[in-house]
Parts: sequence; structure tokens; C-alpha cells
Amino acid sequence: MSIDALSAPLVPDNRAAGAWLYERVAEWYPLDRSITGNGLRKTLDCIGEHIPLTTCEIPTGTAVFDWTIPREWNVREAYIKTPSGERIADFREHNLHVLGYSVPVHEKVSLETLREHVFTLPDKPEWVPYRNSYYKENWGFCMAHRQLESLEDGEYEVHIDSTLEDGSLTYAECYLPGEREDEFLLSAHACHPSIANDNLSGLAIAAWLARALQDRPHRYSYRFVFAPGTIGAIAWLARNEAGAQVVRHGLVLACLGDSGQSTYKRSRRGDAEIDLAAQYVLSQSGQPHAVLDFSPYGYDERQYCSPGFDLPMGCFMRTPPGHYPEYHTSADNLELVQADCLADSLAKVAAVIAVIEGNGRYRNLNPKCEPQLGKRGLYSAIGGRTDTRDLEMAMLWALNLSDGGNSLLDIAVRSGYRFDQIHAAAGALEEAGLLSPV
Ligand code: ZN
Repeated sequence: MSIDALSAPLVPDNRAAGAWLYERVAEWYPLDRSITGNGLRKTLDCIGEHIPLTTCEIPTGTAVFDWTIPREWNVREAYIKTPSGERIADFREHNLHVLGYSVPVHEKVSLETLREHVFTLPDKPEWVPYRNSYYKENWGFCMAHRQLESLEDGEYEVHIDSTLEDGSLTYAECYLPGEREDEFLLSAHACHPSIANDNLSGLAIAAWLARALQDRPHRYSYRFVFAPGTIGAIAWLARNEAGAQVVRHGLVLACLGDSGQSTYKRSRRGDAEIDLAAQYVLSQSGQPHAVLDFSPYGYDERQYCSPGFDLPMGCFMRTPPGHYPEYHTSADNLELVQADCLADSLAKVAAVIAVIEGNGRYRNLNPKCEPQLGKRGLYSAIGGRTDTRDLEMAMLWALNLSDGGNSLLDIAVRSGYRFDQIHAAAGALEEAGLLSPV
């Protein structure tokens, strides 16, 4: 794949990266996350074992723009006891069995009443749905439709030992200062319980990138935000309204481990540098892919791209949310996510970062007719490379189009030469005094 030339510095070994990513997804999968609570904290602690993380707790009741930080939810145990004494829908067996944000309940109910509090997927009868009731007090269980259909008449004991009380919402960030204050922001939602693709895949890839970037020099400063979906991103923006002004590029990372094709959803701006870089990398991959226009729905790009911020942030995914059958069910599990798909997504995001890091604009200092490259020793000048003829052509393109307006990425797209070739050519021309950065 031709994006290897771009991603290799950050991802030298795709197979090892895939194994590491899959291990993280498997390790974090059992934790009982929600938009608040100890499972979310534990997940952030686990991420913090690999990268420097700063955790932030925002108290219940805090206003964040038009929203309010909710009460904190924790569950100790939850189950239904059938008339014959069997425990079903046990939270300890699968945390999806409890409706998220269920208030505590311990009572005996008829099958008819129980049915009003049970959520199933009649068209996918073997799978348990993922449901929440964050902003309306309720209790409930989620189970396979096949199991609900098999329940006998009689008295059921429902038991949810949960707490919903004043506490805080937790998010965490990893900041890696670069040569510039300008930031590249990467964000992944951390609130879903045992759901692997949506979004342990995004958390693992973000953690991998932070771990790799902390050990190498970079032009931009990088900020990774690990926060609960919607309310967490809103809280981060409310706390960082001024800081958001230095975000020059950004990506929301989600659903990156399934076997579907890669998908990039453009920022609200539509023609930001990140949009062009992501489209370029996907087109270079030689694989089927999709590029979608922005819409005010989906993941936290909804918040980052709200008109009051309008950050240049797109969303990098494989199959978009709602477009794969296992989405928001117990089947979004460790079988759906694959190590090689995680590694492939990582390589593409790393290639996007490489393009953004290497991109720039130059001015030709000898614009009246071609300069003589031979007398400057520029033919075959770029040591260690075997694509000499391509590099000569890349130099001619870089000289001709470097008028201060075209970026190196623009030149790569227009010329058909690879970004890494145009970048190497521009470097050699700058050294020879023929190009000057603008
Ligand atoms: Zn989701």
C-alpha cells in the first residue's frame, strides 16, 4: 500500500500494532462504562498506564453551555429472578443487561409489568441491545428477544442495586507539546460499556498514537481527549473555549476495528486541510473507501463543528454508526473487531498525521524560467532513495507550483506524484536555496 511511505515512521510494524490494539480493546471491554461513574474512571486509568493523562472531574449540576452535568451513576449488581428462582439478565454476566442510568429498584412484578421495562431487538432475537435513559428517570433491563419470549407467567423479582447521586463527570486528556502552539486535536468517546468497535477501537488507536508521538519530535502540539460522548465533549469545549482557538486540525476517532471500508466524514468547513489530507490518504490507499459530507449528526464532531466553534475536525471511521447490523448491540464485541482492521485504520490515521506534519507552502526564489538543477547538484541528489526519476519530476512540479498559494499537498494531488516525494523534493530545493517557506 502506498500510504506505507507516510505511516511507517509512526507505525513501523503493522502486525505488532494490530496485536497491541486488539489487546487493549479486549482488556477494556469488560469495564462497565457510562457517561459518569467508576467504570469510566477505571477505563481512563487503564489508558493512563500507557500515556501521560490529566483527568478532570466536573461536579454534578455544573452548567456547560445549554447542558448540565448529570448525577453520577454506578451499579453494584442487577438481575431479574424468575418465578422458578433462576437469575437472568445478570449485570455481572454482561453489563448491557441493565438500562444505562437505571434508578435503583427492588420489587416483585408481574410478567406484564416486567415487559414494560425490558428492551429487546425482535429482528435480531439473539442479541442484547444497548440502551440508556440518561435524562429521564427509569429502570430497565435489556435482553435477547428470544429469552423474553421464553419467559413464563408469574411473579418476577427485579433487583437493580445502583446509585444515581451527586458526583462528577470524568474526562481525561493527553497533551504533547510540539514546536508550535497550534494544535492537532484527536477525540474519542469513552462512555459505552461492553461495546468493542464503538468505541474501544477509537480509544485504543488514540492511545497508540499518543504513545508513539510522545517519543518523537513534531511540528504541531497534540491533544488527545478521552471523554464521554456528547456531554463529555460539550464539557471539554465549555472548559476550553479559549484553548479551542489554537486547534488547526482535528479528528474524531470512532468505529475503527470492523472489517468495513474506511470512511471519512468531512468537517463542517468541508475544505479544511484535514479534509484534504484524509481524502488524499484514502485515495492513495488503493482500497475502497467513502468520503461523506458533514452532517450535524453522528459523533462528537457535532459539538466540535457547532457554529460557535467550527473547528476543522472530521471523523475517521470504518463503517459509520448505525450502518452495521451489530451497532449498539451485544454483537459489537471482540469477534467483530479484528486486529488487522485496527492496524489498517491506525496506519491511515498515522498517514493523515504525516501529511499534516509535512505539509506547507513555499515560494520559488528563481521563478523566471527553470533554474538549472544540474549545476546545483540536484539531479540524483536525495540520498538513499531509489525513485530518482520521480523525484526529479517532483522537483519540477514543486518549483513550478510553489507560488506561496499551493501547499505541498495541493502539488501532490495536481501532479500525481506522492506526497512523500513532493515533500522530499521541496526539502532538497529549500536546501539549495530555490524554495523558501511562506
Ligand atoms: Zn454509540
